[in-house]
Amino acid sequence: MQHDCIFCKIVNRDIPAKIIYEDEYVIAFPDVSPAAPVHILVIPKRHIPNLTEVSPEDAALMGHIMTTIPKIAAEAGLADNGFRTVINTKDDGGQTVHHLHCHVLGGRFMKWPPG
Ligand code: 5GP
Ligand code: ZN
Repeated sequence: MQHDCIFCKIVNRDIPAKIIYEDEYVIAFPDVSPAAPVHILVIPKRHIPNLTEVSPEDAALMGHIMTTIPKIAAEAGLADNGFRTVINTKDDGGQTVHHLHCHVLGGRFMKWPPG
């Protein structure tokens, strides 16, 4: 738990979010400022600042996140048409919240390349 981290606060229920999935290791909730009709954030409960801070010991956790995302996406109705999964890392990646999170975006066609 990092005390100045808004996503740690969501994990701890110190600030509200509509938790749409939770297990021992991850939670998922809608992005407060959605960039698509469906915009879900999937985060590890443990505070990892970004992808550069992931270590080999986190391999199972990262695998768990990746295998959980399609279930969350299917639950959100995105299984048939698909969705985009994004991890922004540090400044050039456009990361604004420094607790590792996967964006799951769908409900419309997602253009490529991103801006
Ligand atoms: P990043 O830019 O770091 O990849 O993504 C951070 C995301 O977190 C943004 O899309 C932003 O809208 C979202 N966000 C920031 N603060 C909150 C919050 O308090 N609650 C929720 N649900 N989303 C947030
Ligand atoms: Zn955190």
